Amino acid sequence: MIIVMKAEFGPDSPETRQVIRTAERFPDIHTELHVIEGATRTLTEIYLLGPTTTISSEPFEELAAVEKVIRIRERYRTIGRHEGQSESVGFEYNGIHFSQDSFHLFPGVCAVDTRQNLEDTFRALRTAGIKTTRAGAYKPRTSPYDFQGHGAACLPFVFELAGKYAIRVIAMEITAEAQIDEIRRALQISGQPTGVMLQIGTRNAQNFELLKSVGSQQEFPVLLKRGMGITLEESLNAVEYVASGGNHKIIFGLRGMKTNLGDPHRNFVDFAMVPVVKRLTRMPVCIDPSHSVGKKLVATDGLLDIHHATAQGLIAGANMVLVDFHPRPEEALCDGPQALTLADLEHFIRDTQLVRDAYLQRLKLRAELGR
Ligand code: PEP
Ligand code: MN
Repeated sequence: MIIVMKAEFGPDSPETRQVIRTAERFPDIHTELHVIEGATRTLTEIYLLGPTTTISSEPFEELAAVEKVIRIRERYRTIGRHEGQSESVGFEYNGIHFSQDSFHLFPGVCAVDTRQNLEDTFRALRTAGIKTTRAGAYKPRTSPYDFQGHGAACLPFVFELAGKYAIRVIAMEITAEAQIDEIRRALQISGQPTGVMLQIGTRNAQNFELLKSVGSQQEFPVLLKRGMGITLEESLNAVEYVASGGNHKIIFGLRGMKTNLGDPHRNFVDFAMVPVVKRLTRMPVCIDPSHSVGKKLVATDGLLDIHHATAQGLIAGANMVLVDFHPRPEEALCDGPQALTLADLEHFIRDTQLVRDAYLQRLKLRAELGR
């Protein structure tokens, strides 16, 4: 059971304390306090944990400071959108707001290789007005003989260049808990020039110890990608692992599913799931057209399949696009064939803006017709 306080009553208010006291009078019930940053307001929520089924909502509904009482389903306790919960779980990180209403492009390199390539990429992003990017230092490769990323060694120049080109958030995959400290330390040494969103890749979607590690820290937000060969429910339970540790700054990433039905794409594009994840949970949803499509195939209309897949996610309300770019894809040490070039950047940005605008128009139309 979740008690949502009216917006004016914060976590330290006497009214919130009164709700906690009322709740803890019931046998075996303890409470947890959560502050939820919605798109338009911040709300204090009190979670009642323990045997709540026999507890009536009335003693809480009677309190003037209580906005509503929500009975939660067992599924997706923390991240789930339970009956009556219309607010999304948004958050602000390093000056950038993320929610189910936001829209951000994260174009960048799949894997950091040379300083020159990264600098060329960041310079192009700044020229285009983009402040969010991706840059992999730790690469989980299918073959142990492939390039595994430069690891901690490249972090100093990655962060230095991010500061130089005004990058606010870098999505960076981690594959082990120790890398969180490596990132934290490198950020400190370089004077916190940027923010990092910890990415959990598809291969680690059920690495429960890693999920607990990113969930038990509050400093960095988490981008959790759907597991490529597990059910959506299993992937959303992976998100619960993160959230149950206390970190609610989570974005869910769709990146395609492993199936031969996806041929000739690298994975079966699953962006029809954008509205599904937004309905089941309150998290912002990211799409990764690069790892879904996996190739620079050109459709008969002249547009790349990567553009088409991106549009399919955005027209359905996706909040973030993680997409591979490289100044010289033929030299990339990882995923060169799917990388767009810096010459493609303007087209990608303008095309995605067009589709995002069309999505917003769709919402307007629905509102106008009262549907
Ligand atoms: C990536 O984004 O670099 C990556 C490895 O993605 P995924 O985990 O979706 O394969
Ligand atoms: Mn990749």
